[in-house]
Amino acid sequence: MADARADDGALVLFSGGQDSTTCLAWALDRFPRVETLGFDYGQRHRIELACRARLRDGLAQVEPAWARRLGADHTLALDALGAVSETALTRDTEIGFEAGGLPNTFVPGRNLVFLTFAAALAYRRGLRHIVGGMCETDYSGYPDCRDDTMKAMQVALNLGMERRFVLDTPLMWIDKAQTWKLADELGGRALVDLIAEESHTCYLGERGERHEWGYGCGTCPACDLRARGYARFVAESTG
Ligand code: ZN
Repeated sequence: MADARADDGALVLFSGGQDSTTCLAWALDRFPRVETLGFDYGQRHRIELACRARLRDGLAQVEPAWARRLGADHTLALDALGAVSETALTRDTEIGFEAGGLPNTFVPGRNLVFLTFAAALAYRRGLRHIVGGMCETDYSGYPDCRDDTMKAMQVALNLGMERRFVLDTPLMWIDKAQTWKLADELGGRALVDLIAEESHTCYLGERGERHEWGYGCGTCPACDLRARGYARFVAESTG
């Protein structure tokens, strides 16, 4: 990849969950230079941050080319985001729904803040693509995961930083079963197994019990979605 242009690089929003790990594999499959960014905002499931290094190491072993392309890892502490949000992701309260229909796991402004910091970092690192696991298909109604929000953010960031960033959201229109299938297409069984074993999804941060689809409490909305998606993926891939 000696002739790779600097603007072919990508920065992946990498939390250590199933979606962002699949996005990282997607980016490694496409771009000659890929860096990762994780945020610590006091999330209850911050155990996911500890999964990141093992996932990066594992991805480098799935494909030799991926090892060459995988660059620096960055983490940013965003304590201020945790300080202003009263949500079930950042406080010890029961996960449920609010009057407006949004789940109380919604952290207001989270993806807007993440993307702004990601763009600021990508600017410094000379990376053109910003890759995130936002998804409109299986999402819980989070307005900051919508495709229109992403497109508006791309315009705002490009205007505000005088750059030509591209926000890539490879999972936007696929469901959880198709996300497992995408991992299978990108890295085969090795990648599916790596994601099941090392990625973290559970909102409650539980990693006690190992299910077929990975670790988690098994009952929170995130575990439920991941488990059902995996079951459908297995059913569809075995015909
Ligand atoms: Zn769970």
